[in-house]
Amino acid sequence: MRRINPTRFKVATRGTSRDINSRIVLNLVRAHQPISRADLARQMGVSRGAVSLIVNDLLARKLIFEGATGETERGRKPTFLYIDSRRRAVVAADIRASETFLMLADLVGKPLTGIVSFPTVADPKQLIAKLAARIKRLLAEHPELDGCEGIGVVVPGMVEHSTMRVLHAPTLGWRNVDVREPLAAATRLPVQVENSGRACALAQMWALRGDLSTPTGDLVFVSVSDGVGVGVIMNGEVLRGRHNIAGEFGHVPLSLDGPKCSCGAHGCWEAYVSNRATLARYFGRAANTTTLEDVKHRQFSVEDLITRARGSDAKAVAAIEATARYLGLGLASVINVLDPARVYVGGEITLAWDLIEGTVRTALGERALTSAAAETEIRPVAAAEYPRLQGAAALVAAPAFAAPVVA
Ligand SMILES: [Zn+2]
Repeated sequence: MRRINPTRFKVATRGTSRDINSRIVLNLVRAHQPISRADLARQMGVSRGAVSLIVNDLLARKLIFEGATGETERGRKPTFLYIDSRRRAVVAADIRASETFLMLADLVGKPLTGIVSFPTVADPKQLIAKLAARIKRLLAEHPELDGCEGIGVVVPGMVEHSTMRVLHAPTLGWRNVDVREPLAAATRLPVQVENSGRACALAQMWALRGDLSTPTGDLVFVSVSDGVGVGVIMNGEVLRGRHNIAGEFGHVPLSLDGPKCSCGAHGCWEAYVSNRATLARYFGRAANTTTLEDVKHRQFSVEDLITRARGSDAKAVAAIEATARYLGLGLASVINVLDPARVYVGGEITLAWDLIEGTVRTALGERALTSAAAETEIRPVAAAEYPRLQGAAALVAAPAFAAPVVA
């Protein structure tokens, strides 16, 4: 089996498929555009002639374009190559238990529009009808776009890879729900559905591959929202497991008699660190008595809580400090089990990273099995980067650019 190695691109040589070379060029153009043929040849370590063959083919297929000329020291004016990503859009949708978020992104994942959101309805049929209507409206509002490549949807649950059915989404109370077919039928667009944590991890891997100089290894993405989603990339591949539930650290117990979790069990990591758990702690209620309706109608978010913590509201500080400690303890389990090179943490709680990092690292240090493991890089992903929507966009955009390394 061919393995994907995210640590570096290997330039395909004679005998390897033209398709792989094309993907390498596409990825380099995506990451470094605008870029000249000469720079491409240098980056790939091949002759200009070899690059020109691939480039001409991609130009003919309208996958890349020639743009403005540039200046060089010797006065020659090379033509720069770029991907016309702006006029072809992808729809990114992030379904969370409380709210559903939507935006249009270009083919390299950059947002083209602001973010639209609406309260999530738990009934899948109603939700998909609403989502389809909002997507159609959003596309109609942007007639300047040439077309839409498809819809990427991230969901807070386990997804069967081959059928994209949502097997179980505890915070939504969904089991065996098909989002793809009805949404595709309603919008007449191809639809990709993936677990939110996995999509976030995929988007990070994709972003890293665009930068040849960034060394990477196994990575984990922990997405904290209404629940906790975790995505794992090992050996360059998304870890799925036999039953598509691999990496569900959100439902690993921290304590057997802890607070009740959305999955029905007690003491899961999610029940300690989700946004709902953090808010419930602040309001002095058990997480299981803080319903989604509460979260929706209270109009008080983790962002508001962080603002209060910065304003020296002692209860707010205590609530996010406790979340930080539980976050660190759970991260120790993730690291002790998988020993990744880097863990990303996404979610509104990262807005308080300067306040909580020390507590997270102390808790991690208590449980990590070696001092080296305790030093594992933990990188917060700013909420302003919308990692879940980036992940959703990557579901549609990344396959076109993914450049597998042939080993
Ligand atoms: Zn659980």
